[in-house]
Amino acid sequence: MGLTVNKILKLAAAKALPIDYVTPDVTDWRMSVCRACSYLDAENMKCGKCGCFVEVKTTCRTNWNPKKLRMEFTHCPLGKWKDKELTNQYRAIDGLEPLNDNDHVTQNSTV
Ligand code: SF4
Repeated sequence: MGLTVNKILKLAAAKALPIDYVTPDVTDWRMSVCRACSYLDAENMKCGKCGCFVEVKTTCRTNWNPKKLRMEFTHCPLGKWKDKELTNQYRAIDGLEPLNDNDHVTQNSTV
C-alpha cells in the first residue's frame, strides 16, 4: 500500500514545521488533551480548528505557521493547553476577540 495524502502531508509537516521541541512529558500531556477534544479529527489526527497534525504539533515549542506566514510559539487555538494567554496574544495580532473565561469559541471564529 502506498503513502496516503495525509501520511505525505504529515511527513512534510514533521520535516518543515518543528523548529524547537518540548519534552516528551509535555507532548504526552498535550496529546491527552487533544484526544479528549471535540475538535480532533481522530481518523486523521488533525485539529479541526487549526488543521495541524496533532502528533507533530504537540511536539513543537515553536513552529512555522504556513497560513499566517510567521514563526509562532506553538499553541492550542482554543487555549486548551493551559496557554490561553499566549493564544489570545496571537488572536489579538490577528484582530480576533480574545477567548473568554469558559473557553467558548463560536463555530464561526477563525484561528
Ligand atoms: S483545539 Fe487544541 S486541544 Fe483541540 S485538537 Fe486542536 S490543538 Fe488539540
